[in-house]
Amino acid sequence: MAEDFVDMCAVCKQGVPRVSMVYQKGKVFHTQCFADHGSSFPAPNHELNHLSARTRVELVQLKNLKARDELEKQAAKESAKEKRKSKSKKKSKKRPARKPKTQRRKKKAKAKSAKRRTKRR
Ligand SMILES: [Zn+2]
Repeated sequence: MAEDFVDMCAVCKQGVPRVSMVYQKGKVFHTQCFADHGSSFPAPNHELNHLSARTRVELVQLKNLKARDELEKQAAKESAKEKRKSKSKKKSKKRPARKPKTQRRKKKAKAKSAKRRTKRR
């Protein structure tokens, strides 16, 4: 299957090898596909080409608008993430401060046990 396909057939949407390629009406066909279905494809129409070109420009403009909108949404999401990140940073700063608290608890426990010993006596 090392065939070198020139383009996709307009009829069957399969790769067209250079040997059986037919270029007609601005499209690439298999020789057989063009013989069978080529007549169903409209000949290039200048008005249609102009319309499709304008539609493509409008599509690109719409895509740009969409991309801009999505970029703005992403920027909003990222700024929200940054806020969360700063919160998590504060949490990580609190963690080392817990260690002295546990040390204090141990000291208190020792003091309590010492008091109990004095009470028992
Ligand atoms: Zn074909």
